[in-house]
Amino acid sequence: MSKVLVIGAGGVGSVAVHKMAMNPEIFPEIVLASRTVSKCEAIAESVKARTGREVETHAVDADNVAETVALIEKVRPTVLVNLALPYQDLALMDACLATGTHYLDTANYEPPEEAKFEYSHQWAYQERFEKAGLMAVLGSGFDPGVTSVFATWLKKHHFDRIDYLDILDCNGGDHGHPFATNFNPEINIREVTAPAYHWEDGKWITSPAMSHKVAFDFPEVGEKNMYLMYHEELESLAKHFPEIKRARFWMTFGDAYINHVTVLENVGMTSIEPVEFQGQQIVPLQFLKAVLPNPGDLGARTKGKTCIGDIATGVKDGAEKTLYIYNICDHEECYREVGSQAVSYTTGVPAMIGTALMLQGKWSGAGVFNMEQLDPDPFMEMLNTQGLPWQVHELPGPVGF
Ligand code: NDP
Repeated sequence: MSKVLVIGAGGVGSVAVHKMAMNPEIFPEIVLASRTVSKCEAIAESVKARTGREVETHAVDADNVAETVALIEKVRPTVLVNLALPYQDLALMDACLATGTHYLDTANYEPPEEAKFEYSHQWAYQERFEKAGLMAVLGSGFDPGVTSVFATWLKKHHFDRIDYLDILDCNGGDHGHPFATNFNPEINIREVTAPAYHWEDGKWITSPAMSHKVAFDFPEVGEKNMYLMYHEELESLAKHFPEIKRARFWMTFGDAYINHVTVLENVGMTSIEPVEFQGQQIVPLQFLKAVLPNPGDLGARTKGKTCIGDIATGVKDGAEKTLYIYNICDHEECYREVGSQAVSYTTGVPAMIGTALMLQGKWSGAGVFNMEQLDPDPFMEMLNTQGLPWQVHELPGPVGF
C-alpha cells in the first residue's frame, strides 16, 4: 500500500494534505506530523469535513533525527514529504536514509545561523541515496518546482536549446493588511533582503537586494513592478541547462511592501543575529515573525490572482522564438477549495503531484534529483487536472532589459 508521511502543518502542508485526500486512489493512507500536533488535528478536521477522509496525526520534532526515525518506524511510509522549514531538510534526509524511505521537499537547505541557501548541502547526499536505492526529489513546489518543470517541458517539446530564461513570480493578491508576508515571514524576509544573483555567460552576477526594478504587464493581473532576486532554482537550472546564456528570477512587490521591508531592515528587525533583551537572547527576525500576521490566516481575506511562469528564448530548427508559459491562480477560489490562499496552494499542489508520481512509479531512480532531471510530461498533465492549469503563448522577443 502507498502510504505517505507529511511533515509540517503550515500553509503548504495543509494544502498538500487536502489535495492528497482528494486523490484517494493515489493516496490511500495519509499521515501528518508536525511540531504542534494541534495544527495537524485542525488540518485533519478540515480534511474530514471537506472529503470525508481520515488523516492520522502525530507530534514530531523534525530537528531530532532519532525522533523522526521512531515515527517513521511506527508509520512505515513509502515517501516522507518535507513541508516543514528548509532548516529541517538535512535531518529529515538523514531519517529517510536510516529507515529506507523516499524523500521529497519544496525548499533547499539553509543553515539557520547563516542566511545563505544553496543546494550543495543536499547534493552532497547523492551517493548515500544512490547506494541505498532511494529517491530524494528536491524542490517540488511552484518556484522551485513548477518553474523548473516548465523550463524542462519547453526544452523537451519546443526548443533545441534555451538561451535566455526569465522566471516571473507575480502575486497580484491583496490581503488588506498594511504589511504581511504570504508565506513564512522568516523565510520570505531572508530571501528578499539577500543580494540578487543571476546567471550570465557562465558566471553569477551580483547586485544589491531590490536594486533592479522593471514594470511588466502580467496576464489577468495587469502591470506590476517586479524586482530581480536570487532564487534557488537558478542554481540547479544553471547546472542542468549548461547551454543557458542568462537565467534570472523576478518577483513582484508593491511599494508599501518595499517601504516596510526597508524600514524594518534599517532598524535591525530583519537581522538573524541574536540580541540580548531583558535577560533573554532573541533573534530580531524571529520576534518580527511573532508580531506579523500569520500567513495561514490571510486566506480568508486575500483577493486577486497569482501569475507565475517562465519566459524562454531559444532556437528550434535554426529559428529563434520566445515562449511564455504560466499558471494563473485565484486566491479566493483556492480558499473555497481547500481553505488556503494561492501562495500556499501553488506550493502544496506541486508537492502533492511530485509525491503522486513517486508513489505511482512514474518518477523513479536512486539518488538526489532536481525537478529538471525528471520527465516533465506526467507532472504537466497533473497540473492541468489538479488545479494549476497552464498556458503557453509566443512573445515577440525575450524580456527586453
Ligand atoms: P509555515 O511556517 O506555515 O509551516 C511550517 C510548518 O513546519 C509549521 O507547521 C511548523 O510547526 C513546522 N515545523 C517547523 N519546524 C519544525 C520542526 N523542527 N519539527 C516539526 N515541524 C516543524 O511554512 P509554509 O507552509 O509556508 O512553508 C513550508 C515550506 O514550503 C517551507 O520550507 C517553505 O520554504 C516552502 N515553500 C516553498 C515554495 C515553493 O514554491 N517551492 C513557496 C512557499 C514555501 P509550528 O506550527 O509548530 O511552527
